[in-house]
Amino acid sequence: MNDPMLKGSCLCGGVAYEMRPPFVFFHYCHCSRCRKSSGSAHSTNILVRADQFAWTRGEDLVKRYEVPEAEHYCTGWCSVCGSAVPWQSRNKKGYLVPVGTLDDDPGSRPQSNIYFDSRAPWYTPVGDLPTLPEGG
Ligand SMILES: [Zn+2]
Ligand SMILES: [Zn+2]
Repeated sequence: MNDPMLKGSCLCGGVAYEMRPPFVFFHYCHCSRCRKSSGSAHSTNILVRADQFAWTRGEDLVKRYEVPEAEHYCTGWCSVCGSAVPWQSRNKKGYLVPVGTLDDDPGSRPQSNIYFDSRAPWYTPVGDLPTLPEGG
């Protein structure tokens, strides 16, 4: 297999990582926890096995929050710029990667909208909106 190493980083560049396909999953998550933690309509996440992921810079800057009442749910962020960054699953078997942190094209595309019944009431599919080449 010659899967490419994909690079990602946070907004300030202090934290960086590499990961490689194949992905366990790649989807948009509309759950209420993802809406809170992302501040947006949904998160976009890839899960990879732990042996497909490595920090390349700034692991000491990474903070995590484990939602106490959740079995799995965590969030990770850079303590300098506050950007979402990947977090290791509590069972140590995988890393959940917020896809917006990638600097490279992951080569595949999201497969599904999960927890769609929990979507925000104001959620509007992007294809339903006019598009502008830049800010408007
Ligand atoms: Zn940062
Ligand atoms: Zn979610």
